[in-house]
This record gives sequence, structure tokens and C-alpha cells, in this order.
Amino acid sequence: MSRDELATARAWLAEATRPVSFSGAGLSAESGVPTFRDAATGGLWSAFDPMRLASPEGFAAEPDLVLAWYAWRRQAVARAEPNAAHRALAARRDVRHVTQNVDDLLERAGARDVLHLHGTIGDDRCHGGCGHREPVDCGAEPAQRPCPRCGAPLRPAVVWFGEALPGDVWRAAETACRDADLLLVIGTSAVVHPAAGLIDVAGAAGARIVVVNPDASAADGVADLVVRGRAGDVVPGMLGERK
Ligand code: NAD
Ligand code: ZN
Repeated sequence: MSRDELATARAWLAEATRPVSFSGAGLSAESGVPTFRDAATGGLWSAFDPMRLASPEGFAAEPDLVLAWYAWRRQAVARAEPNAAHRALAARRDVRHVTQNVDDLLERAGARDVLHLHGTIGDDRCHGGCGHREPVDCGAEPAQRPCPRCGAPLRPAVVWFGEALPGDVWRAAETACRDADLLLVIGTSAVVHPAAGLIDVAGAAGARIVVVNPDASAADGVADLVVRGRAGDVVPGMLGERK
């Protein structure tokens, strides 16, 4: 990252009156929450395809395997602490947050307005669609459990491959992105749709698009500014916070 890029991002953020953050797994990587790719490049889960672990078909075929994977992910989230980027984002009170992350690190850093496009890993919900939802004990042993309301299986309250995003959250995120004057895109490969389409929604409505990522991403082509770096290293400086 050059000093100029950081200074430009900082000036644009200072000018913005309706800033929105749009984040992905890279925002939480420095907190030690494994991305799917991290999990796939070594260790216990390297032999498993995400489709087997995070899809309705996978859950139907091997519920115990899927629940064990989520228990492992929940423990990783419970052990993790918000990093400097979460804290800087939360400290700037006028930023609205749209995230693909299922962890609660933005909330634990103090952010109030977080739209979770892909659900929240700290809850279970009814797989039968009755609407029941409950918080889970992240330290508990994984076990198949019936919904207390309708008897269908409970499952992690996240969006799996092939499933629709929660409509109310999607509509609120679309509105926030359409109204934004700056979209700060942090730590996402921007290839998972429909979520990544929100970057185009904001850009088409006239927002400046600033991308923070150590590597190339699909958002680079629509960005007004790309800042190459890790979220925890560059986001605090952009928002005027010390690390
Ligand atoms: P992704 O794994 O596809 O992409 C992660 C991106 O983060 C990459 O572009 C990578 O270059 C970048 N990155 C890595 N380290 C970074 C850092 N320190 N700072 C900034 N950027 C960094 O993730 P995605 O785009 O979020 O899409 C994957 C899907 O997996 C999402 O739908 C999400 O719901 C789910 N997921 C969520 C979590 C979580 O909640 N923490 C973790 C893993 C996966
Ligand atoms: Zn139910």
C-alpha cells in the first residue's frame, strides 16, 4: 500500500456522510477465524468439500458430520477476539455494516448496525422453516436436536450453498448500499453472489468504492481505489483511529 492510497482513502472517508462497510472472511482472518480456504489447506477438515459441509444436501446426507464442522467453527469464533479493523469500524458510529461473515466480531467490537447477509453462526434455527431460532452454547457437544416448536431438525442459522438469503436483511442491505456515498469493501473475494452484487448496486448509485485486500479480488475492477493490505493494518489508519 502506498501512503497516497491511504491518504486518499482517509480523505474520502472523512468526507463521506453515508459510509457503508461490506466485509467478508478476510476481515476476521487476523482474529484467527478460519476462512473456508484456511480450513481446506490443512488439518482436520482438509479432506472435506465445503458443499458437503455447508449445503442442505450435505446436512440431509451426513447431519452428524455437518454439526461437528459447525461445532468446530463455533469454537473458533468463540475463541476469537475482534481485531483492530473491527474496532476501528465500530468506533466510527455513522458506518452501517453489511457483512457476509457469520461471526459476531463486529458486534463484540461495539458495532450496532450490522446486517448479516449469510446469517449468524451463534444461533440455531428450524430447518423446517417454522421460524424458531435460538442461541447455542458454543462449547456444547454437537448433537442432532428437534425444533421445540415443530419437531423438524434444528440447524445452524447460516445460509448454505443453494439457499436464499434472508429477505428482510437483503432488502435492508440493498437500501443501505443504494444510499451509500462510500462503500468500504474489506476482505472479500467478491465472487459469492448475490452478496457481491451489492458492490455494483452501490457503484451504480454513485458511491465511491474503496477495496481493502492484500490480494486481487473480483471487486478491483469496479473500485475507485484499491488499498493492498491486511484489514487490521490499513483500516484503522483510514478511519482516523490509531491501531
Ligand atoms: P473468501 O474466503 O472467498 O475471501 C476472503 C478474502 O479475504 C480474499 O479475497 C483474501 O484475499 C482476503 N483476505 C485474507 N486475509 C485478509 C486480511 N487480513 N485482510 C483483508 N483481506 C484479507 O471470503 P468471502 O468473500 O467472505 O466469501 C466466502 C463465504 O464464506 C462467505 O459467504 C462467508 O459467509 C463465508 N465465511 C464466513 C466466515 C466468517 O464469518 N468469519 C469465515 C469463512 C467463510
Ligand atoms: Zn420448527
